[in-house]
Amino acid sequence: MTKTTDLRPCDNCGGPIAPFFYRVEIKFRQVMIDPRAVNQVLGTAQILGSLELGAIMAPNRDVLIESPAYRIDKDIWLCQSCTYGLESNKPFKIDLVQMMIEHEREETRP
Ligand SMILES: [Zn+2]
Repeated sequence: MTKTTDLRPCDNCGGPIAPFFYRVEIKFRQVMIDPRAVNQVLGTAQILGSLELGAIMAPNRDVLIESPAYRIDKDIWLCQSCTYGLESNKPFKIDLVQMMIEHEREETRP
């Protein structure tokens, strides 16, 4: 639940968001492909002679490993001007490198 005290200006331009605004939720992660899971599928495929059968018959394990390094969740509120790109002096963009830098700063802050 969002209370009136939780309301804040546009995260991009700082302008008013009322009456309608747009919400962008970002889940940013560093993800690695598990080579063991891939090798299990390829090994099974080699035995069975089919990649499709290998994918079905190999042990069912998640091929993706989420790194604990970057677990960034952002809830960005945008006014209509920024959403539609009408605020030409400050266009909204998602700068992933900047998000990573800010995250590193927050992690190392005492
Ligand atoms: Zn705005």
